[in-house]
Amino acid sequence: MTNPLYDALIGDKSQSDAPFLETSNGERFSYVQFAARAGQAAHALQQLGVRHGDRVMVQAEKSADVVALYLGTIRCGGVFVPLNTTYTANEVSYFLNDAQPVVIIAKPENYDALETVAKEAGAKLLTLSDDGKGTWFDFCGNTCSAVFASKCSSSDLAAILYTSGTTGLSKGAMLTHENLLSNAKSLMQAWQFTPQDVLLHTLPIYHSHGLFVAINTTMCAGASMIFNHKFEAANVIEQLRQATVLMGVPTHYVRLLKQPELSNQTTSNMRLFTSGSAPLLAQTHDDFTAVTGHKILERYGLTETNMNTSNPYIGERRAGTVGMALPNIQVEVRNPETGEKLPVGETGSIEVSGPNVFAGYWRNMEKTYAEFRSDGFFITGDLGFFDEDGYLTIIGRSKDLVISGGLNVYPKEVESEIDSIAGILESAVIGIPHEDFGEAVTAIVVKKGDNIVTRQMIIDTLSNRLAKFKQPKEILFIDELPRNAMGKVQKNILRDQYRNVYGKN
Ligand code: AMP
Repeated sequence: MTNPLYDALIGDKSQSDAPFLETSNGERFSYVQFAARAGQAAHALQQLGVRHGDRVMVQAEKSADVVALYLGTIRCGGVFVPLNTTYTANEVSYFLNDAQPVVIIAKPENYDALETVAKEAGAKLLTLSDDGKGTWFDFCGNTCSAVFASKCSSSDLAAILYTSGTTGLSKGAMLTHENLLSNAKSLMQAWQFTPQDVLLHTLPIYHSHGLFVAINTTMCAGASMIFNHKFEAANVIEQLRQATVLMGVPTHYVRLLKQPELSNQTTSNMRLFTSGSAPLLAQTHDDFTAVTGHKILERYGLTETNMNTSNPYIGERRAGTVGMALPNIQVEVRNPETGEKLPVGETGSIEVSGPNVFAGYWRNMEKTYAEFRSDGFFITGDLGFFDEDGYLTIIGRSKDLVISGGLNVYPKEVESEIDSIAGILESAVIGIPHEDFGEAVTAIVVKKGDNIVTRQMIIDTLSNRLAKFKQPKEILFIDELPRNAMGKVQKNILRDQYRNVYGKN
């Protein structure tokens, strides 16, 4: 084996005529055609000076070119560094200085702003536009696909993914060939992927969900993808007739449920719907089953670990839980202070060990040490508990835990109570600085349509359901919760927006 990840994704299928990718602008590739395309990208990267271990940074809209860049980078032993497409040129400058890539492929509109900083960081700057044009295309379009094969080992880096960084600066998670490959194989088996599968791909590909969970798993199985630029519910319903698997984030399912065409007929070709990256409400899970007959399979992972747990393919998919640990991965709930394993039913810090766990943060030993235990377990920053049957429930991020009057309040418990009140769509519970309590439990609530739910109605209902210290000190209404592209509620934005609710902070 010369290149563990590349060989398993496409190298071993590089002579196969089986379909691989169909994009929304009508491009179609078989595996053999795409291997040639990835070879061209690898050849061009090598001509630009990329050698074993060098970083290739990409900030470009989702396209077949970006997938070819990913595979081409791995093919020449490089390290792929995709960036969120919404980052500004100023933010990209930070990543350039941090990762010091040999090549950066950026959006044409950022060229002027990045030119100097790219030069200073020693990176060659090329461009790739939404319609596939730019200097990268000019350089790569007609090259041959001959590559000096770079021998890689399982412990070599394949990618650096920057975490979404809602607190402090974003950190680069270093992922090895083994991290990515072991997880792709695990998911392929756990979710029973076969070459006949067709994944409807609607996720961004700068994030581990769309890039690794979706693409690596599909390719490992030799299956194919319908590759949409983005998620559009009406379009997705049409395409479900040609697909067998959809990987979504919870907001996708909420949007699908609003489509009158969603039914067991329009989903009859499908064998699997998965959800992750943010909590799927049990209500959404149940509504989806009622309309389509399909039970969404919820799973849990992080940029640093890929996937850790999954509900079973065969067996009970328990709404509100993220299922059991995947084979060969140890997931434990531990005492956050001592690291001691906690018994079933007790809430604590979710910690993970296994071949999926990343190699540390790029050039940041301090952060790496802070987030690993001495026995090698990675502290995910999530809180949760296991039930008797080994199903894990996530309660939230430890940094979102509210400590009010010295007592711990888990936002999810309060949110679930609020969400169950008639006329309420959803809520986010946050801690806001407060003179007496340190932090005051504060609920930000979205009403369903024009319902006349009042602050007092919510306070009265909760007074019988939650201990006094868990009851919100203030309830504020908002039209919509701020979410990122992966459907995660951005509580940092809410904390900032409402920081002065109890006085100036
Ligand atoms: P990211 O690194 O952007 O993939 O974000 C990882 C975080 O997303 C985890 O630490 C969890 O807080 C959250 N997350 C991922 N999957 C789930 C899920 N199924 N339910 C609840 N939270 C999730």
